Amino acid sequence: AKAAGGGQVCLFTPEMSARLLRCHQLEQEFQNALHKREVLLFFQPLYDCGGLQLRGFEALARWQHPIRGLIGPDEFIPLAEAGGMINALGDYVLEEACRAALTWPNDLRVAVNLSPIQLKDPALPERVHAALVRSGLAPCRLELELTEGAMLEQTGQVQAALAALKTLGVGLAIDDFGTGYSSLSYLHRFSFERLKIDKSFTREIAASQDAQIVTRAIIGLGAALGMAVLAEGVETEAQLNILRKAGCGQVQGFLLGRPMPEADVGPLLARVACT
Ligand code: C2E
Ligand code: CA
Ligand code: CA
Ligand code: CA
Repeated sequence: AKAAGGGQVCLFTPEMSARLLRCHQLEQEFQNALHKREVLLFFQPLYDCGGLQLRGFEALARWQHPIRGLIGPDEFIPLAEAGGMINALGDYVLEEACRAALTWPNDLRVAVNLSPIQLKDPALPERVHAALVRSGLAPCRLELELTEGAMLEQTGQVQAALAALKTLGVGLAIDDFGTGYSSLSYLHRFSFERLKIDKSFTREIAASQDAQIVTRAIIGLGAALGMAVLAEGVETEAQLNILRKAGCGQVQGFLLGRPMPEADVGPLLARVACT
């Protein structure tokens, strides 16, 4: 194979065919993963920036593969999307997340990620409603995280879906803010409760003046539009302090808590209750 250059034919390397083979096998195997209950949720805590009070958890899907071990969502969500399984996976995640949240103190929310494909499904509001009813969770405790890409197609369909979700009483958050194609027009058109600053900004704020300026501007934008702002990917005290000074509302990241299996949430809640 030739080294990368300008627009020449791309040949298969052994690594590429190995990756394709793994991808193809995983797509086959994922067909049964849901039924075999191999998909599970991890939960990452969300905190107030100031006093570090616990506010809730984000549900993050994992695939416990019987042979390959734990597989992350960046690998299997695209397979589920391509293989037509994303709605089934989405229903499962919604219900499991709501069911878990029902066991927590009722001032804590659960945040659930939605694929753009789920947003295009006309039955999405019904599916969310079904998960709430089946679990018994109050709608205001569920927050749905959507990426900017999902909003890019300003079709009547997406608009109607967001309106219907609002009517249900669930919260809406914009995920990975600042990484998409940032047509800011959707920001005021739909009422999002929360804006999540992407971790690519958080990663740079302590080292880069520019990243800090952009982050401050995003926090200001959120405040001006009446949205709460959460910064994800907080890994150091320095980043946390900068976010505090910038007036960021909430934070999430390895510094404060890694995504954890549901079994570890109870002990965390018990520790929080004691302090
Ligand atoms: P996301 O929604 O942006 O989730 C945050 C990701 O950042 C998670 O990766 C989390 O483990 C990671 N993270 C949290 N704190 C830190 C930190 O301090 N530093 C760094 N470097 N990373 C941190 P994860 O769990 O691998 O999820 C990756 C993406 O997969 C998520 O990004 C989300 O877009 C998607 N995803 C996860 N679960 C689901 C799901 O149930 N449904 C859908 N549709 N997508 C999901
Ligand atoms: Ca998210
Ligand atoms: Ca994110
Ligand atoms: Ca992401």
